[in-house]
Amino acid sequence: MTITPADILREVKEKNVTFLRLMFTDILGTLKNVEVPATEEQLEKILNNKMMFDGSSIEGFVRINESDMYLYPDLDTWIIFPWGDENGKVAGLICDVYNPDGTPFAGDPRGNLKRALTHMEATGFKSFNLGPEPEFFLFKLDEKGNPTLEVNDQGGYFDLAPIDSADNTRREIVNVLTDLGFEVEASHHEVAVGQHEIDFKYTNVLEACDNIQIFKLVVKTIAREHGLYATFMAKPKFGINGSGMHCNMSLFNQEGNNAFYDPKGDLELSETAYHFLGGILDHAYNFTAITNPTVNSYKRLVPGYEAPVYIAWAGRNRSPLVRIPASRGKGTRLELRAVDPTANPYLALAVLLECGLDGIERKLDAPAPVENNIYMMSGDERKAVGITDLPSTLHNAVKALREDEVVKAALGEHIYTNFVATKKVEWASYAQFVSQWEIDNYLYLY
Ligand code: ADP
Ligand code: MG
Ligand code: MG
Ligand code: MG
Ligand code: MG
Repeated sequence: MTITPADILREVKEKNVTFLRLMFTDILGTLKNVEVPATEEQLEKILNNKMMFDGSSIEGFVRINESDMYLYPDLDTWIIFPWGDENGKVAGLICDVYNPDGTPFAGDPRGNLKRALTHMEATGFKSFNLGPEPEFFLFKLDEKGNPTLEVNDQGGYFDLAPIDSADNTRREIVNVLTDLGFEVEASHHEVAVGQHEIDFKYTNVLEACDNIQIFKLVVKTIAREHGLYATFMAKPKFGINGSGMHCNMSLFNQEGNNAFYDPKGDLELSETAYHFLGGILDHAYNFTAITNPTVNSYKRLVPGYEAPVYIAWAGRNRSPLVRIPASRGKGTRLELRAVDPTANPYLALAVLLECGLDGIERKLDAPAPVENNIYMMSGDERKAVGITDLPSTLHNAVKALREDEVVKAALGEHIYTNFVATKKVEWASYAQFVSQWEIDNYLYLY
């Protein structure tokens, strides 16, 4: 679907749009926006890529000499939000960030993903597809409206109301998403109390990443309206599952066929699929800082809570890092299970695409699949079949990032440098903090 400036001007009139949100994403993955009154004058400016903003206080956007930047709206991202009041509706456009000289800004995660897509096209593929499975928790608010860690249900995996009293909230989230054009495939209570998952249909990676950003906004907004707080942090509570965002990925070729499918291949997977998988596994340790970018992310990547801990892949078995779901033909895909929803989707997917392409270009072979439960294997047994660990802390993950030229190139110099600088500060602040755990364990003992 291609939306033209004329379509937008018409919808603004017909649907009584009074405000327009111009949205973009910073390096940490946070959706930012400038809200502009939808007057003719402003629309004219916006649609001609003349909307300027000061990038100097946006995380990871800082440059030395120059802070003026321009927002170029991607008209295909046009949405009218279902909230607003009798005075008028709020619409939105996701934008790319440009320099005053008309070149794409190197620190823009969305623009950076487009760079990876150019590489993919040069390699001969038509699209890189993503089907994300974001999980989140719904917590109660206190009297002051601040989030607590108290859940509002006692539900478990796939449970129904009345146990799952967040049912209505989730249903309304799905309704809103459907109105916004999402094709929701499933919505269910997750394993942990207070935890939910909503899956929407895969699409080309750029649109899918935009969808993730809008999805988070919708979930948080509707949760608030129901007196709840939605969080996408990776492990909000000790002792129960954390929230992941499994990424289902595939490449389509020029004919629009799934390049991972080969009815004659091992497990009906193509050479391309095995090379892509080889690339993902080869770089997995080094890209984890991008797919799992917070201190807290590593409290999810521990044994016993359905999150991956080891670098391995399997057909059916759900314990390893990469699983190949049973579906074949168009639905042939790799599912990467490490990613959590704190990842900046544009950065994570640019890196995953480049690592997969690296595997294809170097014709890397995937190691043998592991069909046993890896968590039941001893360290020696894992070692014998070449299974290694994912990084155990953000510190180790960021160190590894610095060793990997493919991952660095996928981020580009600007994003890489800013990301590492930000994460070093984050780690240092965490490492120096004295936590309650330490007081509980050491104060009386020593
Ligand atoms: P799980 O069994 O892991 O819970 P889900 O059914 O929740 O998986 O989610 C599967 C996801 O994979 C959906 O978003 C779906 O649209 C997506 N998907 C299906 N086919 C493809 C494909 N060819 N490429 C990428 N994603 C796909
Ligand atoms: Mg799922
Ligand atoms: Mg499912
Ligand atoms: Mg899940
Ligand atoms: Mg899954």
